[in-house]
Amino acid sequence: MARRKLSIDDDALIRAGQVMADTAAPSLDLAREYAVLAAEYRKQQRKLHKTLTISDTYQSRLKETLKLLEDASAKYRQLKDVALPICMYCKKVRADNNYWQKVETYFGTHADIMFSHGICPDCIEAACSHMGVPLSAIKLPKAPPAANLSTRRGQEPVEDAALDEMRALFDRSMADGNPLAPELDRIISRYDKLLRRFTKTMSISDGYQSQLMDFKARLEVVARTDLLTGLSNRWEIMARLEAEQSRSNRYGTTFSLLICDLDFFKEINDTYGHSAGDKVLKAVADSLRLSLRNEDFCGRWGGEEFLILLPETGLTQAGVVAEKLLAAVRDVRVPWEERAISVTMSAGVGEFKTGMSIDQCIKQVDDALYSAKHSGRDRFLLVK
Ligand code: GH3
Ligand code: MG
Ligand code: MG
Repeated sequence: MARRKLSIDDDALIRAGQVMADTAAPSLDLAREYAVLAAEYRKQQRKLHKTLTISDTYQSRLKETLKLLEDASAKYRQLKDVALPICMYCKKVRADNNYWQKVETYFGTHADIMFSHGICPDCIEAACSHMGVPLSAIKLPKAPPAANLSTRRGQEPVEDAALDEMRALFDRSMADGNPLAPELDRIISRYDKLLRRFTKTMSISDGYQSQLMDFKARLEVVARTDLLTGLSNRWEIMARLEAEQSRSNRYGTTFSLLICDLDFFKEINDTYGHSAGDKVLKAVADSLRLSLRNEDFCGRWGGEEFLILLPETGLTQAGVVAEKLLAAVRDVRVPWEERAISVTMSAGVGEFKTGMSIDQCIKQVDDALYSAKHSGRDRFLLVK
């Protein structure tokens, strides 16, 4: 019955919230999805907490009941220790352990009465011979099995080690004619009832928890995604760069970076409006994604800037990729009010060298992009 806890201050939720706050123009669909997910996530979390609180109450009540049981069981053992050595007929104290062990074995194999009824074999034998009855014919009524009493009618018994132990104890105490048996039965019933409720609440909270996990996974995706283009956002780009850097430092592998910036994008916004600009950004993102290999990585670095990471790729090969991407963007046509908007892109291209910091590498590539802009745009320059 291990307790599970979820923190209200959930990382995924916070990060997703930050992404929403940072993005200048979130796509409506994704923003709506985020809002629905976040609301649903909070709702589920509240429900889970509620169920866990209820489970807590049951758990502490179960503990109390177990304590009662332990007390009863201790009393029972005491009673047994004191009561057993005295025969209820001859009232003699039979303190010798071996003697009572023999008696127990004897009754265990010869009659359906238990040793702890406290009748010594001498008295039994005497009674038998007095009545002219063979000893083996003596049959005292057997105690009903504990499960009949301690299991609610029409219900499957609940699996629980403590409950099994209690039932066994109840069986013994019934057979012993122990005066505490009814009290024990009440405790078992109470424990059984609480256990059922507890198990039910735990399974409900398990359901909430698995729903929460689904929401959390979805929120994680939303938190890593740029809401306008569907590409990875800056947060995810940084995580990817760090992972690639540590791979490079460890295995000596190389990778290249491209920082791309759309040319005169402000003019597009000014001429056609912000929505048209958004549409162009989406179309360029799709075009970049389609032109790259699966292993390559493309994210939205800023407003109209994209960062591309090419694993296991040297500078010359990265130049070939840059040429291909620039050509692909040149071919993009975005239909807008019976016209087609086109755009060009400039890029800086550099190779990551082992031992370099990410910031150093980005700075070099950014400088190359700046030079590409100043030497006429619609072109790329390699880091020297
Ligand atoms: P350059 O060739 O020198 O890069 O010129 P530019 O006009 O592209 O550069 P500038 O930095 O002057 O302008 C970038 C513009 O991109 C300004 C900004 O409003 C626009 N922008 C940034 N993010 C978005 C966005 O999400 N949607 C739209 N529609 N425009 C955006
Ligand atoms: Mg820019
Ligand atoms: Mg620009």
